[in-house]
Amino acid sequence: LIRIRDVSKFYDQFQALHSIHLDVPAGRKIVVCGPSGSGKSTLIRCINGLEKFQKGAIVVDGEPLAPSGHGLDAVRLKVGMVFQQFNLFPHLTVLQNLTIAPTKILRMPKSEARDLARHYLERVRIAEQADKYPRQLSGGQQQRVAIARALCMRPKAMLFDEPTSSLDPEMIGEVLDVIADLSAEGMTMVCVTHEMGFARRVADEVVFMDQGCILERRRPDDFFHAPKTARAREFLSRVL
Ligand code: ATP
Ligand code: MG
Repeated sequence: LIRIRDVSKFYDQFQALHSIHLDVPAGRKIVVCGPSGSGKSTLIRCINGLEKFQKGAIVVDGEPLAPSGHGLDAVRLKVGMVFQQFNLFPHLTVLQNLTIAPTKILRMPKSEARDLARHYLERVRIAEQADKYPRQLSGGQQQRVAIARALCMRPKAMLFDEPTSSLDPEMIGEVLDVIADLSAEGMTMVCVTHEMGFARRVADEVVFMDQGCILERRRPDDFFHAPKTARAREFLSRVL
């Protein structure tokens, strides 16, 4: 579903990604981990065109994304993205946050968009908050709204960049549970997280990055029990 071939990315002189190859077949769940600054966010932002890259190719569900950014709109419709900061529209209610893109971008009739929004709000177990504003919700609830909002665009894959790292500990579980549910339903996903328990539970593969390179791509059990590289061993000794 997602094909990343030989992608290199520079911020001016600094090379943030070194010739990245990664294939994500439909239904696959990939957890990306690695030290701070290793390029995890950069990689995930390249996949939906939030960052341009200088070399290589990315194809999402048959839609090519050129380094120049050509093909961006088509690709963005295919992938939903959830960030560390929830990025909800503060002046819109929860329901309006969910219906705005389907009505404006997909030109979905309002009533259909509202039905879809209510459906996904139920799925993330927050149906009763539809008429509140984001500031009236807890962090965990806001993040679940952000997930529902992305799902309302009916993406083929979901990208998560540390979806729980700005949450209080007691709210992390509720957000991870929602992501795990999505995963169980067959959603293709790439998730940057340091929640290693979640990685064990949900990931088909763990990708370990360091200094802009993918050093390991392994089944979770193999990665956690027998990391191959010294960098991964060192990383795991710090996060586990
Ligand atoms: P973290 O775990 O802290 O989120 P990360 O693995 O997501 O780290 P990236 O944010 O992808 O790392 O950053 C990779 C490298 O690129 C870092 O060295 C960072 O300083 C650099 N970088 C990221 N964004 C920019 C930018 N907009 N301009 C210049 N350099 C950047
Ligand atoms: Mg990051």
